[in-house]
Parts: sequence; C-alpha cells; structure tokens
Amino acid sequence: MENIKLDTSVQYLKGVGPKMYELLNKIGIYTVKDLIEYYPRVYEDRTKVTPIDEFQKDKNVLFFGTLVKPVSVAYAKRKKIVSTVVTDESGSLAFLTWFNQVYIKDRIKEGQTYLFYGKVSSVTGSRANLESCSIYDVDQLDKIQGLYPIYPLTAGITQNYLFKLISSLIIDNGILIKEIFDDDFRRKYNLVEANYAMQNIHFPKTFDVVNIARKRVIFEELFLFQLALMNMKDKNIISTNTNSYSDLDDSEFLKIIPFELTNAQKKVIAQIKQDMTAKVVMNRLVQGDVGSGKTMVAAIAMYLAVKNGYQAALMAPTTILANQHYLELSNYFEKLDISVEIITSSTTKRQKEKIIERLKSKEIDILIGTHSIIEDNVEFNNLGLVVTDEQHRFGVKQRMKLSSKGNVVDTIVMTATPIPRSLAIVLYGDLDLSIIDELPPGRKPVETCVVNDSYNQRVYNFLRNQIKEGRQVYVVCPLVEENEELDLNSVEKLFEDYKKEFKDFNVAILHGKMKNKEKDEIMQNFKANDIQILISTTVIEVGISVPNATVMVIENADRFGLAALHQLRGRVGRGSASSYCILKSNNKSPMARQRLEIMHKSNDGFEIAQKDLELRGPGDFFGIRQSGMPEFKLANLLTDTKVLEQTQEAVKDIISVDRKLELLENRKIKEALYEKYGEQLNNIVG
Ligand code: ADP
Ligand code: MG
Repeated sequence: MENIKLDTSVQYLKGVGPKMYELLNKIGIYTVKDLIEYYPRVYEDRTKVTPIDEFQKDKNVLFFGTLVKPVSVAYAKRKKIVSTVVTDESGSLAFLTWFNQVYIKDRIKEGQTYLFYGKVSSVTGSRANLESCSIYDVDQLDKIQGLYPIYPLTAGITQNYLFKLISSLIIDNGILIKEIFDDDFRRKYNLVEANYAMQNIHFPKTFDVVNIARKRVIFEELFLFQLALMNMKDKNIISTNTNSYSDLDDSEFLKIIPFELTNAQKKVIAQIKQDMTAKVVMNRLVQGDVGSGKTMVAAIAMYLAVKNGYQAALMAPTTILANQHYLELSNYFEKLDISVEIITSSTTKRQKEKIIERLKSKEIDILIGTHSIIEDNVEFNNLGLVVTDEQHRFGVKQRMKLSSKGNVVDTIVMTATPIPRSLAIVLYGDLDLSIIDELPPGRKPVETCVVNDSYNQRVYNFLRNQIKEGRQVYVVCPLVEENEELDLNSVEKLFEDYKKEFKDFNVAILHGKMKNKEKDEIMQNFKANDIQILISTTVIEVGISVPNATVMVIENADRFGLAALHQLRGRVGRGSASSYCILKSNNKSPMARQRLEIMHKSNDGFEIAQKDLELRGPGDFFGIRQSGMPEFKLANLLTDTKVLEQTQEAVKDIISVDRKLELLENRKIKEALYEKYGEQLNNIVG
C-alpha cells in the first residue's frame, strides 16, 4: 500500500484482514502509530552463531548447518513428520524435525548450508534434537543476527505475524515518527533521535542499543506526562509576582521552644527559607516519618511569614488534630505576641463571624483549622502562607482553593505518608520535595508483634501490666467504608469485650459517627489519663500525640495498608517508655503474613512503603489507579526513577523560560502534549 501515514488504520495494511483487524483491536492496535508503539516485552538473543557441539538443552540457538542427507517425510497417524540431519565445522550432528511443513522438502537440499534458528529440545552425546527451526539462507545472516523482539500476544496473533507487520512498516516502508526534541535538547539529556529509538526498540542489534532506545521512549513518556501535570496543577510555578521576605531570622522563636531542632529539621527549614527569597511561589512537600517533628517546621515557616507582614494558615484533616496543633502552637506564639485562632466545624456561627472580622482587619496572624477554613466566606487580609498537614487527605482542588484566597500564596504540604520518591514526583509533580529523614533523639523503636486470636488472653494480661505501670492503650479496629453499620457493630462489640475484661479501668470508644464535641472530650480525657483504654476506628490515625500511651493494638491488621499501619504505630513510642504494637490477624494467606512480617521487621516508613509497593504494585498504593494514574507504554514509575528526576528537571527548565510553550522551538512539544493529554488539559482550563 502506498502512502502509509501514522494515523492510517491498520486494516489497510497488507496481511490484515477483517479477522486480524479485530484481533489487533483487542490488543489496542487501531492505527499504524499504535502498531509501532506496540513495544516488545523482551528480546531473544540471536546475536551469536553457536557451533552444534555447544548446544544445550532448552537454549535457543542460531547456527549454520549443512544437510548430510536429503529431507525425508514420514507419515505418522495424523501428522506428516519432516526431518533431516545437519552438521557444521564442529562435526556434531543436529537432527531437525518439522511437522506438516512438507514444503521444506523443496526448500533445503542435501549438501547445502543454511542458517537455522530454534530451540534445542534435547542433547545426547554428540547429537542434538531440534523441532520447528526457522530456516534462512546463509547470506541473510546480517539481517537475522541481533536481538529478536518478543511481543505480548493475544490468542490468534503470533510473534511472527507481528514481526512481519511491524518490520514491513519500519524497514520496508521506512515509516517515520515525529521528533519533538531538537538537537540541543537531546544532547543535554543524552537522548537518541526518536526514529533511531523506535527502530532499535523493535529491531536492535545489541542490548546496549535497546537500553538507549528504551530510555529515549521512557523519557518522552514521562516528560509529556509531567508537563501535563504542571499545566494542570500549578498555575503559580512562575509568577511575576511573589511574596517578599526580607527578614529570615528565626532565632527568637528557636529560643522559646524546649528542644534543639534536629539536623533534618534545620535542613528543611533552610530549603523553605530559600523558597521565601527566591522569585518563585513556594510549593513544597515536606515528608517526614511519624514523629519526625513536622509541626515545628510548619511553625517556623508561619512565624517567618508573620514576621514579614503576612498572615498564615494551617489546615489539618480532623478537628482533633487541628485542636492539638492549636494547643501546642498558640502556647509558643503567645509568647511572641503573635495571635492565633482556630476554626473547626464545632466553632459556632457567631464565634466564626467574629474571627472572620478579625482576620479581615489583620488582628489575627495565624488561623488554624480543618478544611472548613477554605469555605468561601473566610477572608484574609493578607494571606501569604498556607500549610496543609497530612496532605493525602486533601485533594489538589482543596489546596488550590485555599491558595486562591490571597494574591500570591506560598504552600507547604506536610505528610507522614511515606511515598517513595519516584511516586511523589509524579503525584505531586508540581511540588518541590523536602524530607525530614531523622527522628528527634532518644526515640526508641516500637516493638511490634503479630498474633492471632489464640493469644487474646495473653494480650489482655500484657495490657493489664502496662496499665498498672501507669501506661495507656489504644485499640484500633479497621473501618471499611462500604459497610459502616457493620464496622460500627464490630467496634462496639470490641468495646463491650474490653469493658468486661477491664472492669477496674476506664475504657472509652471513639468513632467517626460521634459529634466533634464528644470526640474532643474523649481525647482530652485520654490525654489526661482519665481513660486508660481507647477503642477506636481509624479516626486517630493521624497526628495525635499522647506520650503516655505505650501500646497500640490493631485488630484485623491485615485489612490495613502498611502505610496506615505504620501511621497508627506512630501514635505510640512518643515518650521515654518502651512501646509496643500488637498486630492481630487470623488471616493465614502468605501475602497477608508477608506484609505483616514487614511491620514486625522494620520501623522505617520509607522502607515499609517501598516493600509494600513491591508486594502489591503501585496500582494498589492509595488507590492510585482510581486517581487516574496513566498507564505508560514503557515507563515504570517504580524503576525508572533516574529518568523521572531528569524529566522533572527538563520540565522545569522549559517552563521557566516558556510557560505556555509559545516559542517556535517548543511547538512540537506542545503539539505532542495536546495530542496526548488534550482532553485533560482542556478540562482544567474550562
Ligand atoms: P509529626 O512529624 O509526626 O507531625 P510532631 O510534629 O507531632 O511530629 O512531633 C512529634 C513530637 O516531637 C512533638 O511532641 C514535638 O514537640 C516533638 N519534637 C519536634 N521536634 C523535636 C526536636 N527537634 N527534638 C525533640 N522533640 C521534638
Ligand atoms: Mg503531625
């Protein structure tokens, strides 16, 4: 067929009838472009010619063979068995067999030498047996030698069919794809030309070539994806207008806090200060394991904002947590004459109106609250910095809404959820990343064990001993959202069990259906040690700090993600006493055991997250699949971390010069971006 273009339907290609067309559709191939982007999964090594005396069972071999006898055809029951014997310079013999392919009798002749490729089925002494070898003429060596692509298949499509289809396009028709990067760009990021990459992904000569070709394709995939992310998420990356900070002296604040900052905290604060002086709007993700002291980092950032004439806001995912931040921080800020207020869902309408008035007149410097502080009627006078705590509970939209409350708003997002770097870059492509990779001194790891119900009595005894030593206990029950009734029942049943068992102590229950006021009261009583055992659903998952609590019991632990388990475990081990986490599970499946075993072995949130990812795959991580993560043709977010970092840098470089991709040199990039992500981009704009 003449004039094949990238968008030509494959049904017009030679060799594609209606039936094959349907099968190709089944594996996502509709156009010529789809076909050449249908990349091989692995390659067969046909680089070496192997002498017959070196054949090994089950190995694929490319070899020369001279027929020592004519091809014979024997008729067995339903088969026609075609066979011959070949030899080479090594002197060993190879017995070749084909089934039903009688034409081979005329294809190869006694005394002649051919090139064969096939799998060795057995070797005995100096004779080898091979079945169904491919046959080539000797002068085809050049064409055959190299790596042979192995494509993912569906029933009805063979390797050979795809090979022929794709090679006829690329080799015979010389079809070309669009190169979107210019020479300078490619040199800078060490990328081969697009068509070279495409040809060598399908038909490479060596594995080195495969690697550079794959890298080029992966780079383009990740680059365009991150560029789309930037466009979607962040209108602030380059703003001509940024907040101005002239005073970055925090020594006064450091004097009033009762401890020395860890080096990791200092490092992150230095990065924040850099953002404050740079001519960009701050968009920083601060990641730190539970207990690493993120609140203090946020406090110092807010202190600097206020010192430079701005208001700041701190948003927490729950009322309990907002209250906790308020209690801790207002205590410090009071001493510095900085006014702090809190708005949560339990703030009355009248109180709220008053607070809003004082916000507008700038009598309030710092506002702490739940997401209710992004409601439309909360207005600031001069909001300059927003900190969101425990980011994974806030959507991008909510973040944006808050950012839109001031002219230019710097953003810090804090999370204890240990997202591996590669995923963080993708999920928060618009954010710079800071990591607090150190805990304050003196923290002891939480001792963790995994038990089943047969240990109930022993667990009770252990809890009793701890409580007698003056300690407190959390018991957590998983919440499965599809069936809140049932969950509530199971927490309530647990509550009854514990009350019966611990008649001499105070046992309380906490769950999401309770009123905020009730929840707060219970938390306050727990903090004051008026309650010794707190039974709850995961409402205590984030942030809560009760140093005297030393035991965390988690029921049906296998039903939690490891990241959540690690967070829960982080609720204990906050004081000087030894702490314990008891994971209860009756699940005997190897996967469940393996996952809980990770918790037993490691106290490092990042290691746990990485292992969990390896076990479950990225699709399960925080339901990423539901959140619309794209599936790439070649790129893998877990393993292509180096390329990810490069593409992030490349995207920043481009955007910093040409935000809207208007320069001529970026025209092709823009076209490709819209071709691939146009729909999403338009949704955001519209
Ligand atoms: P997270 O990172 O989990 O939010 P927090 O900010 O709640 O951690 O800090 C946990 C506890 O550690 C708090 O009681 C806090 O006062 C304390 N803390 C924070 N930084 C330090 C430090 N540098 N040295 C000692 N204690 C610290
Ligand atoms: Mg916290």
